[in-house]
Amino acid sequence: GVSLAAHQDPADQDVEMSLRPRKLSEFVGQARVREQLELVLHGALKRGDQPDHVLFSGPPGLGKTSLSMIIATELGSSIRVTSGPALERPGDLAAMLSNLAEGDVLFIDEIHRIARPAEEMLYLAMEDYRVDIVVGKGPGATSIPLELAPFTLVGATTRSGALTGPLRDRFGFTAHMEFYAPEELELVVRRSAGILGVDLRDDGAAEIAGRSRGTPRIANRLLRRVRDFAEVRADGAVTREVARAALEVYDVDELGLDRLDRAVLGALINSFHGGPVGISTLAVAVGEESSTVEEVCEPYLVRAGLLARTPRGRVATAAAWRHLGLTPPQHAPG
Ligand code: ADP
Repeated sequence: GVSLAAHQDPADQDVEMSLRPRKLSEFVGQARVREQLELVLHGALKRGDQPDHVLFSGPPGLGKTSLSMIIATELGSSIRVTSGPALERPGDLAAMLSNLAEGDVLFIDEIHRIARPAEEMLYLAMEDYRVDIVVGKGPGATSIPLELAPFTLVGATTRSGALTGPLRDRFGFTAHMEFYAPEELELVVRRSAGILGVDLRDDGAAEIAGRSRGTPRIANRLLRRVRDFAEVRADGAVTREVARAALEVYDVDELGLDRLDRAVLGALINSFHGGPVGISTLAVAVGEESSTVEEVCEPYLVRAGLLARTPRGRVATAAAWRHLGLTPPQHAPG
């Protein structure tokens, strides 16, 4: 299943780098998180302490990685980037940790996917800036303590519920990233249009912002697709009409739902009479991984009021039936 929301086009990644906000002042929205983070960082700087470890949770594309890089910039330090799945063996993590310089930021994306032994090593590293390296196997094994330079760990996760208690407890500051309001996404695409040199008109910006699933990464991607359309099929200016016509070509509907989002709602309604149905059954029905449906599609469908989570499973709301052009049954929640 190809979906604009779920999959990264590698050719787009360079452009995405160029659009990344570099400073807290360039970072749009998330006012609450920004304020709290500023206090955490500047409090520590003022005392001369190493700032607490930070955990960002929320759906993909909301700015977790960008904020982590901004933290390093604000602290005047370097950032090392890795991810949970890359830390399969504790040795991988030990190598990473022992290479940190004093004050560095270590960013671990998808931290909920870290393997258990590496996670356990992380506990001591986070608490005491220390690791125990186990050398050898069986009864002859010895552990060699290794001092680490003080560092700040920044973890990002799309599933904070999947983090173990002990790991979660070791973060001094946890921030949940919310979907962005359309006005905020308008600011994001205007800024990006400025950087990319796109002739983006006000109504075009509003149209793109309204169809970006509350997500800056999607807003930026749609801007680039609409720009292509504007250059090939129009005079280059991104107006509302041009944006609408372009997004139709890319299967993005008025609510910003893409093909996978609509497939999920379609399966829920057509194959399971609107639910309730379990997430894994639903994922099989659309031929996607459960984690993609749960972490990429579902949060926005819930937020848009199209899907509800109940103790017995996922249920399509009356709005979802209507969005697909169907009459909701009596039992559909409002
Ligand atoms: P995440 O780590 O949550 O998946 P990223 O930090 O990688 O998200 O953000 C994806 C892209 O979206 C960035 O490259 C940047 O272009 C854009 N972006 C995200 N958040 C913001 C923001 N608050 N302001 C401006 N652009 C943003």
